[in-house]
Amino acid sequence: MTDPAAALREILGPKGWLSGDDTQPFQRDWLNRYGVQPLGVARPANTAEVAAVVKACRQAGVAIVPQGGNTGLCGGAVADQASAVIVALSRMTAIGKPDLDSGSILVEAGVVLASLHEALEPHGLMFPMHLGAEGSARIGGLIGTNAGGSHAFRFGMMQDLVLGLEVVMPDGTVWDGLRAVQKDNAGYQLRKLFCGSEGTLGIVTRAVLRLYPTPKQQASALLVMSDFAAAVSFGAFLRGEAGEFLAGLEFFSDVGLTLALKHLPDLAYQLETRGDVYLLVEMASGSTRVPLDEILASALEWGMEQGLVVDGALANSGAQRAQFWRLREEQPEGQRLEGEQLKHDISVPPGAIARFIEAGARICHDILPGTRINPFGHLGDGNIHYNLSPPEGRADFDGKAGAFAEALAALATDMGGSFAAEHGLGRAKIAMADRNRGPVERELMARLKDAFDPKGTMNPGVLVRSPL
Ligand SMILES: Cc1cc2nc3c(=O)[nH]c(=O)nc-3n(C[C@H](O)[C@H](O)[C@H](O)COP(=O)(O)OP(=O)(O)OC[C@H]3O[C@@H](n4cnc5c(N)ncnc54)[C@H](O)[C@@H]3O)c2cc1C
Repeated sequence: MTDPAAALREILGPKGWLSGDDTQPFQRDWLNRYGVQPLGVARPANTAEVAAVVKACRQAGVAIVPQGGNTGLCGGAVADQASAVIVALSRMTAIGKPDLDSGSILVEAGVVLASLHEALEPHGLMFPMHLGAEGSARIGGLIGTNAGGSHAFRFGMMQDLVLGLEVVMPDGTVWDGLRAVQKDNAGYQLRKLFCGSEGTLGIVTRAVLRLYPTPKQQASALLVMSDFAAAVSFGAFLRGEAGEFLAGLEFFSDVGLTLALKHLPDLAYQLETRGDVYLLVEMASGSTRVPLDEILASALEWGMEQGLVVDGALANSGAQRAQFWRLREEQPEGQRLEGEQLKHDISVPPGAIARFIEAGARICHDILPGTRINPFGHLGDGNIHYNLSPPEGRADFDGKAGAFAEALAALATDMGGSFAAEHGLGRAKIAMADRNRGPVERELMARLKDAFDPKGTMNPGVLVRSPL
């Protein structure tokens, strides 16, 4: 059998094949929990090279791990065996010309989300996917995890924003599904199936994405809420009152704000009052005639009269709006810099958020008294990043990570929610999925995997159990 490393070097040339110490930047996941040195990192320059790499790996029986920006939080984009090859899409960064009349664009899978935002700006169009890692996350990875982010309640998750896909299948053939229409019911919804498949069914190489007009005006407010129940009630009021303008509805807690201010000295909190819970509300409109500031201000007044809102400020400039967003977006970084943490990516029906947070706190304090609970996330779609830091003065969780994860997953499931809202399963949550999703669901997923990838070479050990 040919040496797979030699075959891949031959296909890709020196620019496209990294081995040994050169693979170091690709080895570990963002949370530094997973990853070993792989056989090498393939950096193909186009779809044909991806296909050739996949064929060569399949011939040699070598496992393939697709990697985008490596910001995934479940360890799905790094190798867990030294014989695996990471296929990094970072050289495939072409952005096509937007179709202004249809509101769509063709991009390669290695395009960084923030670069796409920048490229669209001069055209008055936007791609409405926003998340804290947008400076690194790439289109292929966002599709791989079916990312959600802060605008998902309004524009949907990645699966709602992908019109067409090109995918290199596990045998090296190429599926050309680069259609550019929303309506396409000619069979199973393959494009949606690849969204959230975490690199286990093929490698996304190009995508046609749906675009929206950039709003002509925005109004944003940072609010101090009296408690989580108040945030939920105010969110419901806003949906009823001005739902068509709502573009962001994000929450974070004082635990998270304290950590972010402690570890990120350039971060500024400009309100006079502190509280337990903060809400970031954003409204946007394509028309300059809609009095957004007034609508938001009168909602705020109503919230204060009802005792839901304790304090608040409307952003008076783009810079202040950006500051408000940074307070929310730096929540993961503040907690990461504090040290050991446990992340739980929960979703519940939005109306149940406060109940989940209250019941979750009881559970966590029973397991390890004093555990610092830092819930933040997306109020509009019920997605709570229910993250924990050890009690003050402790560096770890006393070996109780599994107990927290199990109990919180069970609570979310009981409330009609999910223990894996937007980050996927990766390597981190397969066992939990086995326990929380019934045998029928797991069996269906295993059969799908087998139908696409009978040899099991695509990202083994991620999303579904694998024989490799
Ligand atoms: C600070 C921070 C904030 C975040 N906020 C959010 C948030 O609000 N919402 C959210 O949903 N996520 C969030 N995330 C998680 C992460 O950014 C997303 O999961 C993102 O989609 C990962 O993109 P990536 O390019 O980094 O993918 P990677 O981490 O490289 O890969 C993720 C998965 O996709 C697969 N994959 C990568 N490229 C391809 C491809 N071309 N074809 C097929 N499969 C592929 C990988 O094998 C892996 O299984 C956050 C992460 C951080 C660090």
